[in-house]
Amino acid sequence: MGSMKEIFNSLLLKELLKGLSVTGRLAFARKTTVFYPEEKTPQSFRFRGLHALRRHPGGEERCIACKLCEAVCPAMAISIESGEREDGSRRTVRYDIDMNKCIFCGFCEEACPVEAIVLTRVFESHGESQSDLYYTKPMLLANGDRYEAQIAADRELDSKYR
Ligand code: SF4
Ligand code: SF4
Repeated sequence: MGSMKEIFNSLLLKELLKGLSVTGRLAFARKTTVFYPEEKTPQSFRFRGLHALRRHPGGEERCIACKLCEAVCPAMAISIESGEREDGSRRTVRYDIDMNKCIFCGFCEEACPVEAIVLTRVFESHGESQSDLYYTKPMLLANGDRYEAQIAADRELDSKYR
C-alpha cells in the first residue's frame, strides 16, 4: 500500500512541486548573502581583530611594561622586554605579537590596566609568509595611530555596558 502511494505521488510530481514551491518562496524573501568585499556585514564594537598599541593624546605610549598581557596570553604569543628610561619610567623595549599563535581571545586587552593593547575591528589583515604575521612594537604602534579614532569611540561605547 505504501509503495502504491509513492508511485502515485511520483506520477503527480509531488516532490518536484514541493521543491519548486520552496525555491519560489525564497526567491522573493529578504537576501541573507552579501557581496563581499563591496558589502560588509555589521560589526560589534567589541569585534576582536588586528591588535594595536595605543598612545595617550599627547603622543606618549600608554604601555607601562607591566607584562600582564604577556602573562595572561594562553597562546604565549606575546613577547615583552622592558627597560628603564632616563626619567625612571618603565617602558617596553620590545613588544612583539606572533599572530601565527594568537587565537584572538582578547585576554590581553582585558588584562591591560592602561588600555594600551587593544584588538581593533580590522579583520582584513593577511600575511604571505609566517614572518609577515610577526608584529613588532613599531607595527603595533602604527596600527594604534591609524585606528585610534575608531578604537576610542569603541572603548567609550563599551564602557557604557560594563
Ligand atoms: S588575543 Fe589572546 S591569544 Fe592573542 S595575543 Fe591576546 S591574549 Fe594572546
Ligand atoms: S600592554 Fe598593557 S598589560 Fe601589556 S605590558 Fe603594556 S601595560 Fe601591561
